[in-house]
Amino acid sequence: MLNLIRFSVALCFAVALMLPSFGNANLAATNRKARDMNNNSQTRDEASLRARAEKLHRDSIVVDTHNDITTPMIEEGFDLGMDGADPKAKIKTHTDLKRMKAGGLDAEFFAIYVDKIFVNKATADGGGAARRALDMISLVDEQVRKHSDVLEAATTAEDIRRIARKGKIAALMGIEGGHAIEDSLHALRMFYKLGVRYMTLTHTNTNNWADSEADLNNPNVKHHNGLTDFGRGVVREMNRLGMMVDVSHVADKTFYDVIETSKAPVIASHSSCRALANHTRNMTDDMLRALAKNKGVVMINFYDGFLDSRKAELAMRRRTMQDELTKTYPNDAKRVNEEMQKWNAANQSGTTPFSVLMEHFIHVIKVAGIDHVGIGSDFDGVPALPEGMEDISKLPNLTIELMKRGYSDADIKKVLGENLLRVMSQAERVSRETQASEVNKRSFSTR
Ligand SMILES: [Zn+2]
Repeated sequence: MLNLIRFSVALCFAVALMLPSFGNANLAATNRKARDMNNNSQTRDEASLRARAEKLHRDSIVVDTHNDITTPMIEEGFDLGMDGADPKAKIKTHTDLKRMKAGGLDAEFFAIYVDKIFVNKATADGGGAARRALDMISLVDEQVRKHSDVLEAATTAEDIRRIARKGKIAALMGIEGGHAIEDSLHALRMFYKLGVRYMTLTHTNTNNWADSEADLNNPNVKHHNGLTDFGRGVVREMNRLGMMVDVSHVADKTFYDVIETSKAPVIASHSSCRALANHTRNMTDDMLRALAKNKGVVMINFYDGFLDSRKAELAMRRRTMQDELTKTYPNDAKRVNEEMQKWNAANQSGTTPFSVLMEHFIHVIKVAGIDHVGIGSDFDGVPALPEGMEDISKLPNLTIELMKRGYSDADIKKVLGENLLRVMSQAERVSRETQASEVNKRSFSTR
């Protein structure tokens, strides 16, 4: 018996000794199988998440508040029906009808961008600023009529919903650069009548009534420490009309003056976060909180120079370089251009990953809340975009990533367009109330 026990123990021991080799082989096979199953289920999970995200994206109202395709339209004769993605195409763009549809877009704000050069341009040279805005508005109008199977003009939040239900894309307009009104509230009112529904108070130039962030260090520019009295009047008139006030491009002090003056929530039509990329074009956390208090919305700009901290620093240095060269060669724009091209070639930086773009959305959500962020692509107005957001057809990637990060369908819809629609409706309500009180008082604005 004892022997038998001894034998059994010995056998067990021997088996135990043999186990590691058998065990390793079995374990490896089991692990491989588990890994394969895991990979398969991961692929299945990924595919089902992608399918769910794509459906949510199609079911949502997707709004982009800043698209500069209008510049290739006016400068190079680009037609939205052309294929701007074709490698053989003469004009390459981030935007065309085909890719707007592929991106699941429901509403686009075309930028009526008035370059500062038009401020002092003679009529014979195509000036001035209001004329440039009119030329661009006319072009958008023509494109909407020409492509009426896809596009339809919209001027209210309700228009956007109605047009989206039909499966078409709502076409809206925002003026970029307050100098476009040539200091006339009458011009402002007429731009509203033509369909303009927001105005960016400045571009990179300080105008006669609002400071821009871009030329604050230029001693030759007369600054106002934010908004002048007339500037505050412009904001109040925009409130009265129901035209959204856009604080992208303005100096920080201008922003706070707008927040103090505006009765309606305001937008930043294409701005990102300064805490993540230190560029004065971006909004500080304090500004994000002030915007949330105002019930407004910041629409994230996709330009990698405003997203990626390294590139933002480079962009600020580029700006200083450009200023210095302009001072050195005041009458030689060609030389300035050549020197800048050399500088750009010597200061290349690689691509920006998609996650960097996402961090800006997440940052606003953390600092200001889910109700205060949206899409302000700046497509066709910027030289480089992050990986995975190379053109307007890539918009669904945003929904996929938000879903991956665990946001609810309702929250994702807010980011894609509902936040902007809320602010637009609110601007319309403030306008109705202001005009109703004027009728009661019979005191129409006459300025
Ligand atoms: Zn801009």
